[in-house]
Amino acid sequence: GGGEPLVTVPRDLRVSFEFFPPKTEKMEQTLWQAIRRLAPLSPAFVSVTYGAGGSTRERTHATVTAIQQQTGIPAAAHLTCVAATKEEIDTIARAYWDAGIRHIVALRGDPPQAADGSGGLGGSGYQPHPGGYAYATDLVAGLKRVADFEISVACFPETHPEAASAAADIDNLRRKVDAGATRAISQFFFDTDKFLRFRDTVAAAGIDIPIVPGILPITNFGRAVELGAKCNCVVPAWMDELFGGLDAEPETRQLVAATVAVQQCLRLEREGVRDFHFYTLNRADLTVAICHMLGVRAPKAV
Ligand code: FAD
Repeated sequence: GGGEPLVTVPRDLRVSFEFFPPKTEKMEQTLWQAIRRLAPLSPAFVSVTYGAGGSTRERTHATVTAIQQQTGIPAAAHLTCVAATKEEIDTIARAYWDAGIRHIVALRGDPPQAADGSGGLGGSGYQPHPGGYAYATDLVAGLKRVADFEISVACFPETHPEAASAAADIDNLRRKVDAGATRAISQFFFDTDKFLRFRDTVAAAGIDIPIVPGILPITNFGRAVELGAKCNCVVPAWMDELFGGLDAEPETRQLVAATVAVQQCLRLEREGVRDFHFYTLNRADLTVAICHMLGVRAPKAV
């Protein structure tokens, strides 16, 4: 009904923020500017991605440990099966445990030739490494043998592009949970109905872990469409309409992007979602604005 306030504070929402490891001094500065602004929102955890083909092994380790040490926020390291033997992966995992990292986002990853800076989104023609973990399920089981990590995995509201069927993909999620995963973070999506149907199907299949929506605040609509095409994510026509004509107007685009993401989050909240994972792309502006409107704020100084 009318007159309903957009925001009531406090709410009981939990957020998490995803970053990628910086390649240059300049990108490093951008990352830490973002972290300084996002850390006061007390996220449940933050996570740091792992470049396609293991290309960021050292940088992911350095970034994830630095964030946890300097902010005290639990930090999760993404890890993939690509281009490494089981022994190599186990060594990386042990180093994380020794450095105090207790949470791994365990992924299959994509073939190295898909490396285009997109953090491994999309891609095809995956071949397991001969001595490696073949799928995310195998990685989850392997990590659990190394140490009692908290493990999150990926899930796909619009079905993973290489899955035999939507049902087969949900069976795959079940195997990941049986192997020890306790949270699934979704690929980003713009058709919120699809996420909600997916969540309900997963629950009806008796898979009892939080399915956390991955929220992508859109800084660059063209890029989002490109990424979406690679990972089965449909970009609805209404979004085309919304972002149409704004190519030369970055500020306006930001305002539209914040509005779109807030509406998406509020819809999810009305449907019972309490956890939100933000793909920050190492930028704070949009995520801070969205969180603010969701009532997720830094505690007031007293
Ligand atoms: P899996 O769960 O192994 O599934 C992959 C495909 O194989 C699915 O189609 C599944 O149905 C199928 N499958 C599983 N087991 C079998 C089997 N035994 N036989 C036949 N088919 C099977 N990529 C990166 O490189 N670095 C990152 O940091 C990164 N972070 C991500 C974070 C999130 C939240 C998400 C959603 C994705 C991320 N990705 C990352 C991308 C991810 O690596 C790709 O989407 C990848 O293609 C699938 O990974 P997965 O862990 O879901 O694979």
